[in-house]
Amino acid sequence: MANSKYEYVKSFEVEDEVMPPNLIVVRIDGRGFRRFSEVHEFEKPNDERALNLMNSCAAAMLEEYPDIVFSYGFSDEYSFVFKKTTKFYQRRASKIVSLVVSFFTSIYTTKWKEFFPHKELRYPPSFRAWVICCASMEVLQTYLAWRQNDCHINNQYNTCFWMLVKCGKTEEEAQEVLKGTHKQEKNELLFQQFGINYKNLPSMFRQGSCVCKTQVEAIVKYSENGTPVKRLRRKPIIVHSDNIAARSFWNEHPFLLKELGDFREDINNIKPEYVKSFQFENKLMPLTWIVVRIDGCHFHRFSEVHEFEKPNDEQALNLMNSCAVAVLEQFKDVIFSYGVSDEYSFVLKKDSQFYQRRGSEIVTALVSYFTSIYVMKWKEFFPQKELKYPPCFDGRAVLYPTSEILRDYLTWRQVDCHINNQYNTCFWMLVKSGKSKSEAQAYLKGTQAREKNEVLLQQFGIDYNTLPLMFRQGSSAFWNEEEKTGMYENGASAEKSGKKVVVEQCNIIEQSFWEAHPSILNEKPHMV
Ligand code: ATP
Ligand code: ATP
Ligand code: MG
Ligand code: MG
Repeated sequence: MANSKYEYVKSFEVEDEVMPPNLIVVRIDGRGFRRFSEVHEFEKPNDERALNLMNSCAAAMLEEYPDIVFSYGFSDEYSFVFKKTTKFYQRRASKIVSLVVSFFTSIYTTKWKEFFPHKELRYPPSFRAWVICCASMEVLQTYLAWRQNDCHINNQYNTCFWMLVKCGKTEEEAQEVLKGTHKQEKNELLFQQFGINYKNLPSMFRQGSCVCKTQVEAIVKYSENGTPVKRLRRKPIIVHSDNIAARSFWNEHPFLLKELGDFREDINNIKPEYVKSFQFENKLMPLTWIVVRIDGCHFHRFSEVHEFEKPNDEQALNLMNSCAVAVLEQFKDVIFSYGVSDEYSFVLKKDSQFYQRRGSEIVTALVSYFTSIYVMKWKEFFPQKELKYPPCFDGRAVLYPTSEILRDYLTWRQVDCHINNQYNTCFWMLVKSGKSKSEAQAYLKGTQAREKNEVLLQQFGIDYNTLPLMFRQGSSAFWNEEEKTGMYENGASAEKSGKKVVVEQCNIIEQSFWEAHPSILNEKPHMV
């Protein structure tokens, strides 16, 4: 096949399976939520609706992914614990972490209106995420204790801080008052100055929230004579507890004991070496091109449910392109991107120091932002169509050591676009002319490119090469430096009129594209 020459680039994709018996935990955290909460006027220190929205998203997550058996969150973060025996996406870390963050973002953006009916979403919320491997139940227990301890410390501090600010202190003064104070002193300050008994504050603020699963009897169908057929089903419920790492809490939930195991004993101190392992992050190799490729999850179904035109829905492609432009504008280290169908590849510059090259953060920030924009812009591109369920994308980072290999990667994607589009065009023409899907499939099996073009021309009068370029070549989004706008009378050249992101349908396989845009890969023009 024509593609095979470039397929070697696939070998740069590395395996990242989390080996059993490690338990898989995914933690997500809002990106820049300090600003997000200010812009959206969250009540301080705790906006209850914002917390309820987070909880509702977490519950939706447990509903969507049965392998997630427990989750815990507070403020702008949530942790999701997978069952011991999970085989979810073959336990591949980047798949799991990107899907979780994407799905969560999608739900958050979709549900915003439900929780804030009077507030517009001013800009797309997004999250970062990490996989935390817990080698034993004791490690998981420590992880949970660590997160809940953070919740407690933050909330106590924030409660004091905002009470001081509300009583007239500046933020700097409030900070100064609290500097170096202990727990006990903070509680006293609250009580003596403001008459607040910390223990009486809502448990959701002090303890964070958990999502567990409970069994309920649900009607699954009706039998012929109309009697309901009931089955036990697991339904997520929100619970609060002052110590989620305690044996007593765990023992109240037989489902957790079954899917994860039990805690041998209560822990009194959080081992620092464990905490260090929770914070450990892999960095991507320096001075290599980073490509983050995202791909729509189950878009075959998504495109059917949303009645995309086949084989190519132009508006759906325009929406993807528009999201890619937003990604380039938001993440300045992304210098080029190429997209087709439900996928987009983002190239980060070789010497990028974005998130100190921590792979998980780079991938999840991009995929989360992309998802958020996709949901927010949906109505703009499909004014007549409701979003029936939240779309989500997976993502991975792949490293390429040289520009030649990077270009082979991009070539691989564009060749793939061509092969798929040619096949899909034939397939859908055959289907539209009355063949069943399996007949169309059988008809095209083993046909070469030339034969497909003949089918199109002879049976349907379509000259493949006249189809829209966007369908045949995919789209590239990149920063283009605009031409100089002209010369002033005194002969001095005008300032460059700024850069902007453009979307073009280009042949990125050929040398000429890269020669015409030497700044993208920072290569010298016309090298021979
Ligand atoms: P980063 O991108 O590094 O995560 P961040 O701005 O999100 O930065 P965090 O340390 O994650 O900072 O803290 C989250 C911030 O979001 C808190 O400072 C808090 O002010 C705000 N926040 C989140 N949820 C709420 C809420 N329900 N009510 C009020 N404020 C909230
Ligand atoms: P996975 O979760 O493994 O990615 P998938 O269902 O998303 O599975 P892909 O191989 O990614 O499968 O293919 C994407 C599918 O989405 C295509 O088969 C196509 O049917 C559909 N699709 C995506 N974008 C469009 C579009 N613009 N117009 C029509 N169909 C589209
Ligand atoms: Mg945050
Ligand atoms: Mg897909």
